[in-house]
Amino acid sequence: MAIIVKKFGGSSVGNVSLIRNIAARLAKDYRKGDQLVLVVSAMAKTTDSLFELAYEITRHPSRREMDMLLTAGERISMSLLSLSLLEEGIPSISFTGSQSGIITDEHHGNAKILRVNAFRIMEELTKGKVVIVAGFQGVSTSKEITTLGRGGSDTSAVALACYLGAEKCEIYTDVKGVYTADPRIVENARFIPEISYLDMLALAYSGSKVLHPRAVEFAYKYHVPVEVKSSFTFEPGTMIRNDEIIRDENMEERKINSISHKENILCYRIAPDAKALLLLNNWHHEIFKIQIEKEVLEIYVESSFEPEIDYLLDNSAYENYSKERNLGFVVLVGLGLATDPAFLAKIISLTSEIGVKRISHSERSLELMLASDSVKKTVALLHKELMEK
Ligand code: ADP
Ligand code: ASP
Ligand code: MG
Repeated sequence: MAIIVKKFGGSSVGNVSLIRNIAARLAKDYRKGDQLVLVVSAMAKTTDSLFELAYEITRHPSRREMDMLLTAGERISMSLLSLSLLEEGIPSISFTGSQSGIITDEHHGNAKILRVNAFRIMEELTKGKVVIVAGFQGVSTSKEITTLGRGGSDTSAVALACYLGAEKCEIYTDVKGVYTADPRIVENARFIPEISYLDMLALAYSGSKVLHPRAVEFAYKYHVPVEVKSSFTFEPGTMIRNDEIIRDENMEERKINSISHKENILCYRIAPDAKALLLLNNWHHEIFKIQIEKEVLEIYVESSFEPEIDYLLDNSAYENYSKERNLGFVVLVGLGLATDPAFLAKIISLTSEIGVKRISHSERSLELMLASDSVKKTVALLHKELMEK
C-alpha cells in the first residue's frame, strides 16, 4: 500500500463546509486503499489574526511566545478535519508537529527541520488510521515549540513525504496548479501541467506564493514527487519533477516559462560587514533577497517587517542605514534570458514607460526591480507581449 501525503492550505480549509467536503473526498481515497497522511494549514486568515492579537499587546513580542500562539491555528484545523473524517466513518487521529516527530533547530519563527522521527505516524498508519499533522510547526532539540516561517506547511508536507518514503506529496490549494503567472493577476495565464524542480525553485524564490521555497528545495534535494492541485475539484494538477521537460519546436529558442512577482518590499542599505549579516541571522524571518556590492549591503524584506528590523538595527548601534520603501520585483523565469541582447532590448522598450530601477539576472531568471504599484500592470503587460503572441 502506498503512503500519500496530502497538504491542504488555509483557503482550502477556510470554513467548516470546505473541511467537510474535503473529508468526503478523502474518505473515497481511503476506501481505495491508500495510506493517507494529511498536513493542514491554519484556517484562512487565522495566522494573520493571531499576529494582530500579539501586536495589540507589544510591537516586539517574544519569539518563543509567538510560536506558542501561532501553532494554535493549525491545531484548530487538524482537529476539525479529524472530526469530519470520523463523521465519514474513517478512523483518523490528529497530531501536532511535536507529536509527529518533526524536530527542528532553535530558530523560533523560522526554524529549519533537522529530522523527522515519524514513528507515531507509522504506528497509527499500521493500525489503519488516517493521520492528520499540523503543518508549519515542530519541536526543537531543547523541546520548545517552533514554527517554520510563513507558508511553512508546504515544507512540513514535503519533509514528511520524504521521511515516510511516500509515493507522492500532493499540495492542495485554491488554484488548479502552477500557471505561467499568478492567475489572479493575469487573466490569460496558462496552466502548466509539468515543471522541473529548478524552474519551480526559481519561481518560488522570486515571490510566487504557490509553493514555499523551502518545500521546493526539499523536494529537489530528496527527489520527492510533488503535485500542486485544486482542493475544490481534485482534478490533476501540476507535476513537479526532476527532469527538464523540453518540447520546443525551435530547439534553441530562449523561452520564458513563467513570470512571478513580489510587491511591498522594503530595502535597507547599510555598510557591508559580516556583523550586520550575523545580526540578521538572529532575526529569524525569511529575507526576500540580499545583495552585496563593494560599498553597500542591500537587504530586501517585506514591508510589514519594518518595525522589527528598525528595532533590531537601532538596538545594535547601526545608525547609518537608509531605507527605500514601496519596491517591487517582476521576474521572468527561463534559461539564459540575459545573454540575448535582442531579448533585453525588447524588455527595455516594453517597459520604457514604467521606470525600471534595475535589471539583474541569474542563469534561470531575469529580474526587474520597480515601484511596487507598477508590479501588477508590468506582469500583465509582459505576459501579454511575451507569452500570449
Ligand atoms: P495556500 O493557502 O493553499 O497555501 P497560497 O495562497 O499560499 O495557498 O498559494 C496559492 C496562491 O498562489 C494562488 O491563489 C495564486 O494567487 C498564487 N500564485 C502566485 N503565482 C502563481 C502561479 N504562477 N501559479 C499559480 N498560483 C500562483
Ligand atoms: N498558517 C501558516 C501561515 O499562514 C503556515 C501556512 O499556511 O503554511 O503562514
Ligand atoms: Mg501557501
